[in-house]
Amino acid sequence: MKYDMIVVGAGPAGMTAALYALRAGKSLLLIEGQAYGGQIVQSQKVENYPGAPDISGWELAEQMMNQIRALGVKLVAGNVTGIEKNADGDFLVKTDADSYEARTVILATGVGHRKLGVAGEEALIGRGVSFCATCDGMFFRRREVAVVGGGNTAVQDALVLSELCAKVYLIHRRDGFRAEERLMERLRNTENVTLLTNTVVSEMKGDGRLESLLLRNVKTDATRELFVAGVFEAVGNLPRNAAFSDLVALDPDGYIVTDRDCRTSCEGIFAAGDCCQKAVRQLTTATADGTVAALSAIEYLG
Ligand code: NAP
Repeated sequence: MKYDMIVVGAGPAGMTAALYALRAGKSLLLIEGQAYGGQIVQSQKVENYPGAPDISGWELAEQMMNQIRALGVKLVAGNVTGIEKNADGDFLVKTDADSYEARTVILATGVGHRKLGVAGEEALIGRGVSFCATCDGMFFRRREVAVVGGGNTAVQDALVLSELCAKVYLIHRRDGFRAEERLMERLRNTENVTLLTNTVVSEMKGDGRLESLLLRNVKTDATRELFVAGVFEAVGNLPRNAAFSDLVALDPDGYIVTDRDCRTSCEGIFAAGDCCQKAVRQLTTATADGTVAALSAIEYLG
């Protein structure tokens, strides 16, 4: 079967694109490599999505999926390994499991977690090193843990963990934080969170499980060992668009370059959400992109 549209990625951008395409009566395949929902499923609370002032990320993702399920969305699992443009201008989308044909493609691949890249980290991922406080915080109940980063994710993670853990160290490489002031104020009023600023992690130590972090103060060069059962890395995100780099233009950081109608450099391929080159990556901008990409693709289909 040749679909009108294949959407790669079932985060908020991809699910919104699917919503618009299905409502327009287009045949559509939604491909997702992991669990649907994208990054928001890691947020215990989403407080900045208009009309839903107090909802968990997982609930919001579930509602988005239910909305497209009711329209008959076809969701398949698979990591897209490449896309070929056929002589007729249509596309063959290859995953690690199968291949699918479509007349248009919307890339909504989101972003992956940036890692710290320090000694000991790789071997301890899933053994005390985590990227999701909401998912894994429970495993560290009443223990001492650390969070690394100074953005909204790091501060939200520290707040989530402060309710579960005996003590939380928030380690940040500068003394200024990117996180919103509203979150910083909550953090400062949380007794069991200690801020370690101007500090970097230089090594993670542990025999089969994380036992400690080696820290260095970047101002004084002083080092210390911090004994924690878990470390949550929240140091930003990286795009994962390498599989499409032969077909669509990427910026030097690996984000997909689009015009304001979410068209990529390849006719028939559109992109939406955090995987695109842009200044603001938020839930609201992802869903907005999903709308624009779907409507542009529908126009292209004619
Ligand atoms: P982010 O805003 O990019 O922050 C990443 C943090 O990690 C920064 O503080 C950065 O330090 C630090 N960092 C980066 N590389 C590092 C390294 N190698 N070693 C040590 N520290 C490093 O990432 P984010 O917090 O995940 O947020 C991503 C986007 O999602 C943002 O636009 C954010 O506003 C949004 N978001 C929104 C919410 C919400 O509820 N509104 C929640 C989560 C995320 P520097 O500051 O020194 O660069």
